[in-house]
Amino acid sequence: MRKLIRGGTVVAGSGILESDILIDGGAIAGIGDFRALRVGAPEADLEIIDAQGCIVVPGGVDAHTHICFPLKGFISNDDYWSGTCSAVAGGTTTIAVFLPPPPSGESLADALHKARESGDAEALADYCFQQTLADASDATLAAIRALVAEGYPGFKVFLGSDTAMSDFNALRIMRTLKDCGGQLLVNGGNPGMERFVTEAFSAEERASLANYGRNRPELIEAEGLSRAAFLARLAGIPIYAVHVSSALALAEIGKARAEGCDITAETCPHYLILSEEKYAAGGAEALKFTLNPPLRSRLNFEPLWKGLADGALDIVASDHCPFNIIGQKDQASSDFMRIPNGLPGIEPRLPLLYSEGVRGHRLSLRRFVEVTSTNPAKYLRLYPRKGEIAIGSDADLVLIDPEAKGLFSRSTLHQRNDYTPYEGIERQGAIRMTLIRGSIVYEAGRGIVGRKGQGRYLPRFPASGR
Ligand code: MN
Repeated sequence: MRKLIRGGTVVAGSGILESDILIDGGAIAGIGDFRALRVGAPEADLEIIDAQGCIVVPGGVDAHTHICFPLKGFISNDDYWSGTCSAVAGGTTTIAVFLPPPPSGESLADALHKARESGDAEALADYCFQQTLADASDATLAAIRALVAEGYPGFKVFLGSDTAMSDFNALRIMRTLKDCGGQLLVNGGNPGMERFVTEAFSAEERASLANYGRNRPELIEAEGLSRAAFLARLAGIPIYAVHVSSALALAEIGKARAEGCDITAETCPHYLILSEEKYAAGGAEALKFTLNPPLRSRLNFEPLWKGLADGALDIVASDHCPFNIIGQKDQASSDFMRIPNGLPGIEPRLPLLYSEGVRGHRLSLRRFVEVTSTNPAKYLRLYPRKGEIAIGSDADLVLIDPEAKGLFSRSTLHQRNDYTPYEGIERQGAIRMTLIRGSIVYEAGRGIVGRKGQGRYLPRFPASGR
């Protein structure tokens, strides 16, 4: 059946216009004035969706999420079904899922194919993968080449933390990815600096969450990303910096770019509006905000917002990795280094960016769409199928009601987690409706209306993303 989205303010690549959108066969078939089309007209078979008063944007693309992710002996709460229900209720129609290094005995290909089976069975939103690497053995490098050819181009390395890779191994992976057309994502960090800082805390101090924000100073993040950029220049490959949290790290990215390094920079909503003050009280309240990198001083808010507006930052991703307070985070709170770190955020991402960014006069409407949808789609090699309102693009569309007001609250979210870090924060605007490939999957008042397994796996090839 064809659908007509009538009368919204459409944020298209060609500009912001008052326009109708015609959907046929799951794709966008027309943008313009279709008042002449009526239900019951000769070609009948037309469903009309009234978008009067709404802003119509391309479905959000969340470039960084975790689903059933194992960490420090725990597994993050959302599976492909609950995670993607949460995504679409928040206006996100495509997610990139980060997979952990496979357990010993399992190959990278097996791990990806297994994850794909879960995604195909359960996902409501469209999805693709990024694979984390823990070694640079000859077998791993051969597996990378085969997987890039199969449409899995994205691989992440840690330069710090428990799975830190040596510079030499990171370089071997960079050279392999460069040769076969893959992409490298980097989590900054520095094992020596991290150990030095951690060892300075007594066991007693590690039991107090009031100290949590001091366990990963900005200097470590900035050094890690700076070094990653030098390595990338040596290997001659672009890199993607995940979850940039501080002005100091952003400045290092700026320097590297000025010297010719091609870096795509991602930040997350929590670094834009939550600060290290959340740790001050310690206890269960502070537990809600345990993640890596930790929340920073509020002095970073303005440089990060400015970076998003002026292009120093390209993408806002959720880094959704939800662990419960009760039964998960609280089980490890006697030592902050053992807490499974991560925040839930897949659903509030778009509403928060719209409310705080667009309505807070920090981002234009067009820039909001770029950082939440268009840029991640381009990076993921899914553009213009995703991330754009244009003829031929998938009809992944989100209607935002700009006048609706509310509060973020766990009780309204579709995640499985037992809290949201944004509880009680006021919001201007709300998601009225989400469509994926022309099908309504969420509607305010009705809730989730899609079904398990409706989401599609998206292979990613260099040329077209198809
Ligand atoms: Mn992550």
